[in-house]
Amino acid sequence: MDVKTIVLASRNKKKIAELQAILAADLPEVSILSLDDIGLEGEIEENGLTFEENALIKARTAMTASGGRFAGVGDDSGLAVDALDGAPGIYSARYAGGHGDDAANNALLVQNLADVPAERRTARFVCCIACVFPDGREVVVRGETEGLIIDTPRGEGGFGYDPYFYYSPYGKTFAELSAAEKNAISHRGKAIAKLAEALKSL
Ligand code: IMP
Repeated sequence: MDVKTIVLASRNKKKIAELQAILAADLPEVSILSLDDIGLEGEIEENGLTFEENALIKARTAMTASGGRFAGVGDDSGLAVDALDGAPGIYSARYAGGHGDDAANNALLVQNLADVPAERRTARFVCCIACVFPDGREVVVRGETEGLIIDTPRGEGGFGYDPYFYYSPYGKTFAELSAAEKNAISHRGKAIAKLAEALKSL
């Protein structure tokens, strides 16, 4: 068993580079492979009911696909809006139907909040990351960042719901932050930092 190598359950080069960059500072000896690197084709079915379950499903699939040689890491993230009982939640990527249609997802979000006053538009981004080892050990971490949903998009950066997610401490939406500023306070940045801590202590 090689615990210094991790297979990330993703083909997204940006996600892999981001995880590598943040982990490199704390765990320079760890290297990260993608699903392509271990020859796993097709999509992993995310049929869990929580962010944690989906992250674990992806992490277990990656570990198993490596033939039990490497640890698997999976993540799941999304936006939870209080006035919508936590929606879009685990369905954030496909809120309006099509997978990853940011414009349609944002339009539906604004529409569903049309009658909700500004002070009740509290929301949070959530990111869960799971790490599953070949010997059966499993670690799941969660990062959250609170914000408010606005009606009119602001900023050109980021992706997904970022232009509508207003982060009060900075008086800016996530789309108005630089990548470094966002990583420092984002749900994903917090979850990756917790993962690095957890891996260090193992
Ligand atoms: P996944 O974790 O890659 O499946 O992404 C889930 C979805 O949640 C994305 O498609 C976005 O719609 C949303 N999301 C997750 N993180 C962010 C973020 O940092 N900014 C904006 N949208 C996000």
